[in-house]
This record gives sequence, C-alpha cells and structure tokens, in this order.
Amino acid sequence: MSETEQATSMAARATAGTYEARAFAASAASSGLGPATIRRREPRPQDVQLDVLFCGVCHSDLHQVRNEWQKTMPTVYPCVPGHEIVGRVTKAGSSVRKFKEGDLAAVGCMVDSCRTCAECRDGQEQFCEGPATFTYNSPDRHLGGVTYGGYSDRLVVDEAFALRVSDRLDPAGAAPLLCAGIITTYSPLRHWNVRKGQKVGVVGLGGLGHMAVKLARAFGARVVVFTTSPGKTEDAVRLGAHDVVVSRNAAEMQKQLGSFDFILDTVSAVHDLNAYLDLLKRDGTLTLVGAPETPMPVGVFSLLFRRRQLAGSIIGGIRETQEMLDFCAEHGITADVEVIKVQKINEAYERLAKGDVKYRFVIDMASLK
Ligand code: NAP
Ligand code: ZN
Ligand code: ZN
Repeated sequence: MSETEQATSMAARATAGTYEARAFAASAASSGLGPATIRRREPRPQDVQLDVLFCGVCHSDLHQVRNEWQKTMPTVYPCVPGHEIVGRVTKAGSSVRKFKEGDLAAVGCMVDSCRTCAECRDGQEQFCEGPATFTYNSPDRHLGGVTYGGYSDRLVVDEAFALRVSDRLDPAGAAPLLCAGIITTYSPLRHWNVRKGQKVGVVGLGGLGHMAVKLARAFGARVVVFTTSPGKTEDAVRLGAHDVVVSRNAAEMQKQLGSFDFILDTVSAVHDLNAYLDLLKRDGTLTLVGAPETPMPVGVFSLLFRRRQLAGSIIGGIRETQEMLDFCAEHGITADVEVIKVQKINEAYERLAKGDVKYRFVIDMASLK
C-alpha cells in the first residue's frame, strides 16, 4: 500500500461509523471558544441522537475551559463544554424503549458508567468506580479521545443516560435543571433531608444558588440567601428567600450565628468557610457544591463545638435526576435564564466570572446552524 493509500485508509478508519457535527470549542486555556467541527458516533441500537435545542452555561464549563481544575481534572483540548442539554430526538436505535423520534430528551453531566459496580447498581452512577464518563472532557469509550459536550448541534447518547423532559416545561428554562437543578435539589437537599420547619442557608446567588432557593422553598424550608451582591437582594426574595444577608456585612452575619440546620455553599471562588460553619446549629451541616480548586482553611474548633459537619456533594444519579425533572414539571419549576446566541459565549463567560448573570445563561443552539 502506498503512503497516500495508507493515510486515506487511516482517515477512513478514524471516521468509519461517525459523522461530522458542528460545535463551539476552546483550543487552549486562553483561546476563548470558537466554531469547530467534531465527530459523533452513528447511533447504535441502544442510542438516541438529539438535535440540541438549548444548552445551559455552568460555571464548571468556565473552570474546565480555562483549565482551572488542572490538578484534579486537567482539560484536554479542543474542549467542547456543555452538560445542561435539552434536545429533540432525531433517531432512536432499534432497542430504544424510552424515546421515539420527535420526543424531547435531556442529557446532564454523565453519558455513561460501568453499570456493574456497587455504586452503579445502587443508582449512584456519579460515584461509579469505573469511573463515570462525563459529558465532556472524559475518555470517550467509543471513539477514543475525550467526550464532547452540548455546545454542539447534535449529540449521540445511550438512552440509559438520557432523561425524559415534560413538554409542559419551557425547554430553555429546563436545560439548567440538568446540572444546577440536580445538584441543588434532590441530591444534597434530599440527602440531608431538608424539610419544613428547618432553616436553610444558600451561599452565592448564581446558577446553582437560584435553583437552590426555589427548591429549598418548595421543600418547605425557611430560606436565607447569603450574597456578596447587594443588588441581588430583591431578586432573592422574588425567587423565594425569606431573608437575605449581605455576607460582607459583619453585623448582619453576626445576627445569624448558630441558627442554621443546613447551608449549601455554591460559591465558585475561594472564600471563608469558617464564617458559615459558625452559623450552624448543633449537628448542622455545611455542604460544599461550589468547586474552587485551591484548598480553603477550616478552623477545627468551629466543627468541635456543636458537633458541626462539613460535607460535599457532586451531581446526582440518573434515577434521581429523572425524579427531579418530574418534581420540577409537577411544581412548574425552571431556571431564570438569559438566552444567548452561541457567538456571545465569550462575553457570557466574562460576565459569569464576575457573578453577573440572572441567573443562568442558556445557549439557543439554533444560532449554530
Ligand atoms: P455562578 O452562576 O457563577 O454562581 C456563583 C456565585 O458565587 C456568584 O453568582 C456569586 O454570588 C458567588 N461568588 C462568586 N465569586 C465569589 C467570591 N469571590 N466570594 C464570594 N462569593 C462569590 O456559578 P454556578 O454555575 O452556580 O457554579 C458555582 C460553583 O459550583 C462552580 O465552582 C461550579 O464549578 C460548581 N459546580 C459544582 C457542581 C457539583 O456537582 N458539585 C456542579 C455544577 C457546578 P453572589 O453574587 O450572590 O455573591
Ligand atoms: Zn454544571
Ligand atoms: Zn460503575
């Protein structure tokens, strides 16, 4: 075989069973995002293919694109982020049971897992020992390289990792439920059994925080928002907060000492955790979902006195994500979104980095066509 023939046959092998899709990708940590062409696999019998309608913009996308998690999860470039995806099914493989062509379907932070370890068998695929295949920047089990996320026109996913979305929900407002919703609702709030009669704090009023307020309120708790942005006070109340504390005001913080059952901390940057541990009652829990990579110091005495707990939580399993979507459909809960064209994504990242979003950017993927 000549060199040219060899090269052609390798290219054919690399593309056999795949097709081209359009995307927005970052080519380096400082490049910003721009148009790119990627390959998706042809759907297998158990796969669904989606036309992506809307994709939410999570602060994790920004951390990942800028390689801010380089010690824990280094970014492989090109990187196509996006894990808050709502789409329309355009193909359903022969063994697909949950979907048919034309249905709405959603994809969150995971697209696969080993399915056999104890965590997977328990419906906690996010903790898969495999580990789980995340929607982007995870080794791709089928094509090699890494997975590419929802800033794209099309996506192929095993139906086991696709969720049903009620068409009663606005699809743009529903997209952020796939990450911001599951993280702040069923998973930590349900796990720590947040309920009526409890006092719950939400730290940071961004994408995750605003969903946490809506959901903690729907679960019957008394909700207090802690914000560094005094301008968000009115919104916090509109979203369901009973009270709002500007966290830079020491006197206001002092009034809240020792009074919380549970606090969910959604802050994306390094900040003082001890200030929040001191607000917990005996046996209260501060759960971190925000994910700055730099370690944050903890004063042990804040934990010892009153036997307080410091915990973390990451997304939720597939079964729980479906329950959350059904709960939101029943209660009419969606995110407050600012819909943008994909060409505005770099501006949106700049605003997200400054906490200037009300309260989730969602990309209208029709703009990619
Ligand atoms: P976001 O929309 O940017 O919201 C973060 C909020 O944190 C900001 O709106 C701001 O609220 C507050 N904040 C920002 N910088 C701050 C600072 N220096 N000091 C104090 N407060 C500050 O981000 P998001 O999409 O909600 O994500 C939040 C974090 O959660 C990110 O680190 C993300 O990677 C992580 N995350 C974790 C999971 C998980 O499974 N655990 C899943 C998704 C995202 P105020 O203006 O109200 O102060
Ligand atoms: Zn996310
Ligand atoms: Zn597993």
